[in-house]
Amino acid sequence: MTLSTGIGGGIVQNGQVWRGADSYGGEIGHLTIHPGGPECLCGARGCFERMCGGLWLERDYGRPASELLQNPEFVGGYVVDLALGLKACIMLLNPARIVIGGGIAKAGEALFQPLREELRKQITSWSRARIDVVPAALGDDSVLYGALALVERN
Ligand SMILES: [Zn+2]
Repeated sequence: MTLSTGIGGGIVQNGQVWRGADSYGGEIGHLTIHPGGPECLCGARGCFERMCGGLWLERDYGRPASELLQNPEFVGGYVVDLALGLKACIMLLNPARIVIGGGIAKAGEALFQPLREELRKQITSWSRARIDVVPAALGDDSVLYGALALVERN
């Protein structure tokens, strides 16, 4: 997934991108994590992207995400919403791994460690759930390399 100004998702199965019936499979940014929450650009309320995307963080808190994520107290609250969205993905797909790229992922272990801890809290009744959440090795460039890989396959 990309965690940046917005949230993008992609599901890879057997080396292929899973697109779904109408090619929006993996559009995880618009999973509802807070029914009745603030309105998203898509018109729905409380979307994963609306609660966790960098564009909205800056709008809601008046400071850029890169600055907000340097505050452990802020991160502690942020990972609750982030884990709500990821938990929905984990329970639906049982992925082997979740790879997160994009600007917000640059916060590194200051974000990933509390995120994994929060996921373990939220999935506590499902003790066997795999929680393998890692930063994208390609960082900000992961989207570009992903697009290149798609073009080269088609
Ligand atoms: Zn939305």
